[in-house]
Amino acid sequence: MLHVISKDSLPGDEPSHRGRAATDAASDVGGLPSREQLLGALAAIVGEREALPGDSPSARYALSDATAPRGIVGTADAVVAPASAGEVAAVMAWCYERGVALVARGGGTGLAGGAVPAGGVVVDLRRMDSLLAIEPELWRMHVQAGMTTANVQRLARESGLLFPPDPGAAESSTIGGNIATNAGGPHAFKYGVTGRWVTGIEAVVPPGRVVRLGGTLRKDAAGYDLAALLVGSEGTLGIVTAAWLRLVPAPEVTIPVVAGFPSARAGCAAVAAVMGSGIQAAALDYLDAGALSAAAAGFPGGLPDGTGFALVAEADGGVAEAEAVARELEEALGEHATFVRRMGDRTAVRKLWAWRDGVAIAVAARRGAKASEDVVVPVERLGEAVEQTVEIGRRHRLEACSWGHAGDGNLHATFLVDPHDPAELERAARAEQELFAMAVALGGSVSGEHGLGSLKSGTLARYWDAEALVLHDGLKRLFDPRGLMNPGKKLAVSAPAPPD
Ligand SMILES: Cc1cc2nc3c(=O)[nH]c(=O)nc-3n(C[C@H](O)[C@H](O)[C@H](O)COP(=O)(O)OP(=O)(O)OC[C@H]3O[C@@H](n4cnc5c(N)ncnc54)[C@H](O)[C@@H]3O)c2cc1C
Repeated sequence: MLHVISKDSLPGDEPSHRGRAATDAASDVGGLPSREQLLGALAAIVGEREALPGDSPSARYALSDATAPRGIVGTADAVVAPASAGEVAAVMAWCYERGVALVARGGGTGLAGGAVPAGGVVVDLRRMDSLLAIEPELWRMHVQAGMTTANVQRLARESGLLFPPDPGAAESSTIGGNIATNAGGPHAFKYGVTGRWVTGIEAVVPPGRVVRLGGTLRKDAAGYDLAALLVGSEGTLGIVTAAWLRLVPAPEVTIPVVAGFPSARAGCAAVAAVMGSGIQAAALDYLDAGALSAAAAGFPGGLPDGTGFALVAEADGGVAEAEAVARELEEALGEHATFVRRMGDRTAVRKLWAWRDGVAIAVAARRGAKASEDVVVPVERLGEAVEQTVEIGRRHRLEACSWGHAGDGNLHATFLVDPHDPAELERAARAEQELFAMAVALGGSVSGEHGLGSLKSGTLARYWDAEALVLHDGLKRLFDPRGLMNPGKKLAVSAPAPPD
């Protein structure tokens, strides 16, 4: 039998700590501070302008993330924007001692409700966006956690280097949020997800200590890899305040190659052909028929009739190397494709990825909103997962489609919803549970890159080994013995039961 980690199993995780922390009058419940005490203490640490009551209009942005169109909005007692790790530590120390929950927040672009508070204090890291050091000749940089992903990428590029992780909302997402979700993106196929590019982390951990985990070393086998534990921890273990990042020399050129197929099966056979031929594409993304029909307008070069699936691949490297990989891609994809197109100049490349980044918005626009998940399956099962996603939607009377990172077996499986139709939202919630069960049945996982947040918290128990869950739970207790770090996220069981 699986050991189910529930919110009840976490120490100190009782409702008074998890939910609304401060009351209007001095509380007699568990020594919780009053709202005035809380705001007064926070203002004394970060300054009055940077400590807002959670119900003030200017704090509203901190109550939701990119799941807001689905109606997922939380509440907070206060929102603070510290300027240094010392201030984060002082905020945490004050709150932790008094049983007040803390929710770290970066750009709020998360797609799992991870930064949506359920009471307590939201810690907005975006003021901490400084470049601390860049050493191009050593391929590394040191940045505060609130720097946007786009700025990290830009600074690297200006030095002739590449920071490869490229999640789609880079102008708004922060490096702290990327680390906390272990974000991916199209180029994770060749370069790996965010964690691979982090050699060290500075974090504030309960009850309010600043710790340095790793640093500039490119390898270090001496101790347990504690920095790696913070990667993907979704703010449930500590608050990342700075990171040391590894960079690589930027490729001289990138050459996208797009191909169309009559069906998902044919397209996925082409993915297998690319991998089987040993071609190291930099990216290998896909769109199924539904996603294509929503986003067809901007498809580079137009979309021929009858295209049921498309692959967007990219070759990169030195000029000769990229050219050779592009040619190999054309050959491998051409065997199964109805058309193959290569894009040459920089403008076309920029346009292609801008279009790719906009697919989610184009899909959501069809019905007003979308319930989108980022399940992942073994790459050889991708075709089945794409087809079953549509089938699950059909069973629940929902239009469904998917797109995502084909080479990583990572689907952004999506059900289109009218956000004003509660019955439809309810059907989408049920469809999502079936989707998770489908991914697990195919040997996959409920999240490839967005994390569990509040939408999928507790789902680990469905497919993780029981003993692994005990270790997972133990680590949470070790870092956060009172269960105050982003409570209700990742671990707590809050989703409806999976279908039989
Ligand atoms: C249009 C669009 C496209 C996207 N494309 C991709 C994609 O291709 N790949 C991908 O992986 N994701 C993608 N995302 C999801 C999202 O951008 C990533 O999850 C991103 O890493 C979130 O960063 P953020 O700063 O916005 O974090 P937030 O949304 O603010 O927070 C996300 C989680 O991280 C925690 N957190 C934030 N900052 C810290 C910190 N400093 N310390 C500790 N915990 C912290 C929060 O508590 C929360 O649990 C996309 C989102 C959008 C809207």
